[in-house]
Amino acid sequence: PEPQSFKQEITAVFGQPVAENPTQVMIEAAFADAGLAWRYLTLEVAPSDLAAAVAGAKAMGFRGFNLTIPHKVEVIQHLDRLSEAAEKMGAVNCVIRDGDELIGENTDGKGFVESLREVSDPQGQNVVILGAGGAARAIAVEMALAGAAKFTIVNRSAERGEQLTALIKAKTGAAVEFVHWTDDYDIPTGTHVVINATSIGLFPDVDARIPLNTGSLTADMVVADVIPNPPATRLVQEATAAGCTVLDGLGMLVNQGVIGFRLWTGIEPNPAVMRTALEEVFG
Ligand code: NDP
Repeated sequence: PEPQSFKQEITAVFGQPVAENPTQVMIEAAFADAGLAWRYLTLEVAPSDLAAAVAGAKAMGFRGFNLTIPHKVEVIQHLDRLSEAAEKMGAVNCVIRDGDELIGENTDGKGFVESLREVSDPQGQNVVILGAGGAARAIAVEMALAGAAKFTIVNRSAERGEQLTALIKAKTGAAVEFVHWTDDYDIPTGTHVVINATSIGLFPDVDARIPLNTGSLTADMVVADVIPNPPATRLVQEATAAGCTVLDGLGMLVNQGVIGFRLWTGIEPNPAVMRTALEEVFG
């Protein structure tokens, strides 16, 4: 018989603060479901310790790790290679070990596109993105790589909005327009996908209203929210009432985890198990 092995394969997330990040629950549920003796550790890493943490992960043979605030940009200098999307975004949220090399990937936007593909093909679509932060950037780059035709970036601060607009122009072949968000926004007719990529509506500010004329949402549109908690945001409820096809932020979060799991283990996890694990956390 095979000698028994007490060695576990290690994955992790590095962040600060990190204690409230629920990814461990979702990924470890998927490891258990797949019968893998793998662990996912939630590790507090200060910015000044990031280089040592990455070297330590490499030395200890971690199979991969996620990065969250404030490490997504700074980690890049410590990696050996980047995926095309991570390179364009200038941000990494997932590292995969390949032999002796550490490869930087970004799964935030890929998780979104994977959710969207369940209801609609991004190819040739007109996309309105509310917000211009990290989530908006990841989604825009991935949607452009998936063939979206045109982006309208709607953002409160002109500086961030114009930065994302310039990035799309420089790094993708898609058309792009910037709208400075000063009052209730009307979704233009001909829009295929509307995405809330702001933090408006995140727990505990669940009643916060997105400055949007919900009368301009029509049943032929896909409306997506990045807010995972609560899944049924005010926007999700209003878009559902308007007859739109609706995607919640929990689906995006699960799919982002599915992609990371697949990259690390090479096997397909069970997304239903992952969603249930997160729903239990979010109550
Ligand atoms: P950032 O801080 O980088 O960006 C926040 C964005 O929200 C900015 O565009 C900001 O505008 C806008 N914003 C915030 N408050 C308001 C307001 N009151 N009115 C108008 N605009 C506002 O955050 P991230 O992009 O990293 O994250 C955004 C959200 O996405 C978070 O809530 C996070 O939970 C969620 N997320 C979900 C994921 C998922 O898998 N479901 C993955 C990643 C993130 P301005 O530039 O004017 O400040």
